[in-house]
Amino acid sequence: MKVDFVDLKRQHKKIEPEIEKAFKSALKRGDFILGQEVKLFENEFARYCGSKFGIGLNSGTDALFLSLLAMGIGPGDEVIVPPFTFIATANCVSYTGAKPVFADIDPATYNIDCSKIEKAITSRTKAVIPVHLFGQCADMDPIMRIAGRHGLKVIEDACQAHGALYKSHVTSHTSQVKKVGSIGDVGCFSFYPTKNLGGFGDGGMVVTNDEKIYRKLLLLRDCGRGPKDRYEHLVVGYNSRLDTIQAAGLRVKLKYLDLWNKMRKYNAGLYDKLLEGSENIIRPFSADYSEHVYHVYAVRLKNRDEVQAGLKAGNVATAINYSIPLHLQKAHKGLGYRPGDFPAAEKVCREIISLPMHPMLSRKEIEYTVKVLKKTAEA
Ligand SMILES: *Cc1c(COP(=O)(O)O)cnc(C)c1O
Repeated sequence: MKVDFVDLKRQHKKIEPEIEKAFKSALKRGDFILGQEVKLFENEFARYCGSKFGIGLNSGTDALFLSLLAMGIGPGDEVIVPPFTFIATANCVSYTGAKPVFADIDPATYNIDCSKIEKAITSRTKAVIPVHLFGQCADMDPIMRIAGRHGLKVIEDACQAHGALYKSHVTSHTSQVKKVGSIGDVGCFSFYPTKNLGGFGDGGMVVTNDEKIYRKLLLLRDCGRGPKDRYEHLVVGYNSRLDTIQAAGLRVKLKYLDLWNKMRKYNAGLYDKLLEGSENIIRPFSADYSEHVYHVYAVRLKNRDEVQAGLKAGNVATAINYSIPLHLQKAHKGLGYRPGDFPAAEKVCREIISLPMHPMLSRKEIEYTVKVLKKTAEA
């Protein structure tokens, strides 16, 4: 048996006629740049998240970068980010001329450790970027409280968590369920093909309730164009538009997002059950305040590298998300961090391995993966 890490072909097979129809009608209209499907998808996705505005962009990276610019963050400023995430979370800060400052992760959820945020705050800190890693919401209540106390902006990196829920404890008696992306000042999403909601190429979006940020992002993504004249440029903007053809495909896929997330959760539950009792395999921890959407199903093992080789020999594809924490990446060596600075992130990087995970994964594939995993883990 051969198990793929993700299988987009299987996922797209069922919706192929719908996708083709959407692409064809965009082709007929020919409104390839900021066409009608972009506006429709922005409205639909923003509504899905529970936010007022959506701005379609060319990637999740630009969603983060342009959000920081729209908030006026730049040289001399600091932005707090976790060291265990995809590199874009820190790069976007560097692009603006501001400095990424790392705060270690919670060893159970792998999301930013709220108790470490406050220690990283200085007089230059302007924002914090919690990442909803692997599809699990960061603990947003304490983060929003800290941000409020220190006047920081909150940029949710929701690139891996489309549709994940957070149970916010408004008071000790009441709680309120919110979608990720709608809790901070902005929520940033990627539509990279393998994300929970993925396009047919690159794409991204910012959702927000803040009309001022929304207006700024509209300028920044489209060459700084004013509303009246195509060739009047009000700010030095960028070319970061979501393609009409991507929006057309994403509108079709958005209708399936909740179902596909449910299938991911079901598959994660199956993995959990089959791995129960394996003492040397640490399963994902799902916090009670979050409804996990399992973009990634990752386990931890002491003998990770041997286990990965064993799975490979058994034809099971895996990935390491992530092997190097951001503070130890060559790209960020100028920040001056050293090994040992963030022990929780460093330990997880040594032990983590991502197993095959996608909505269409079959019970047989999961059972086989667990069989090979257990065999090599316990050898
Ligand atoms: C995918 C991802 C991004 C970047 O998205 P792109 O669309 O690839 O630019 C940012 N942050 C996280 C956590 C991601 O997983």
